[in-house]
Amino acid sequence: PSAELAAFTTAADVRAALPHRGPQTHKGTYGRVGVLVGEMTGAAVLAGLGAARAGAGLVMLAGEERVQGAPLEFVQRLFRDDMASVFAQSQALVIGPGLGDGGGLPERTARNLLAHWEKPGVLDADGLRLLRQNGALQRLPEGQWVLTPHPKECAALLETSTEAVQARRLEAATRLARETGGVVILKGYRSIIAHPDGRVRVNATGNAALATAGTGDVLAGIVGGLLAQGADSFLAACAGAFLHGAAGELAGERLTLVSTLASDVVDAIPDAIGKAF
Ligand code: AMP
Ligand code: MG
Repeated sequence: PSAELAAFTTAADVRAALPHRGPQTHKGTYGRVGVLVGEMTGAAVLAGLGAARAGAGLVMLAGEERVQGAPLEFVQRLFRDDMASVFAQSQALVIGPGLGDGGGLPERTARNLLAHWEKPGVLDADGLRLLRQNGALQRLPEGQWVLTPHPKECAALLETSTEAVQARRLEAATRLARETGGVVILKGYRSIIAHPDGRVRVNATGNAALATAGTGDVLAGIVGGLLAQGADSFLAACAGAFLHGAAGELAGERLTLVSTLASDVVDAIPDAIGKAF
């Protein structure tokens, strides 16, 4: 397939991914997202905010220490040795934002979750490194995880150059999906969403307002929030990419392409959701 022939993501994906909010529903209806906290705690907070603004019923941050200054709405848990129980009540995980490459307990926890977690999850940033072990790409259960690499992270996983990925973005995304079993969002201008079964979509929302630190963490959180609400992984990836890009455009209109920050993208998610309905 060529990128020109693949269908675009649409606002209808956002509508389909978000469950109806009936009057008798409660926070449990909308799922709990567990976010693994690593070295750069701000990234985990941005991911958590993305999940919460995308409608997750509850966001839990889990790490070695409490994150100072995290939103009051977040639950915080510390993992010492019983991290299986810390995450057990989550409907979806977000692993990787701010994880860092220092090894240690967060990274071991991430590896463990990747090996044993049986519900949906998002794998981003330094979490993606864990997919390459002893020179080989790890295979994940088909469609269980959404992988959100930027072109350089995709290139590292495929053992090629960033330039080669960018020259053939559709091929790179479909290959990574096929070889890992994950649903891939290859980020950047016109993100490509690829399922291991061969389905492909192109996301045309978003602009250079998003070219700033932390916006990828927000995307990972949005997708985690949609997964926790029951969207299947391909729909969550398509709807999440659409919503994130739309929020970036709205933030950019208000604040300019120059001055938009990742937290401004978070703040624009409600308007982006409103616009999709
Ligand atoms: P990261 O590199 O992990 O921080 O992720 C950056 C996020 O911003 C991804 O969702 C990209 O798709 C998005 N992004 C960055 N630059 C652009 C651009 N020029 N047009 C559209 N989206 C962009
Ligand atoms: Mg990133």
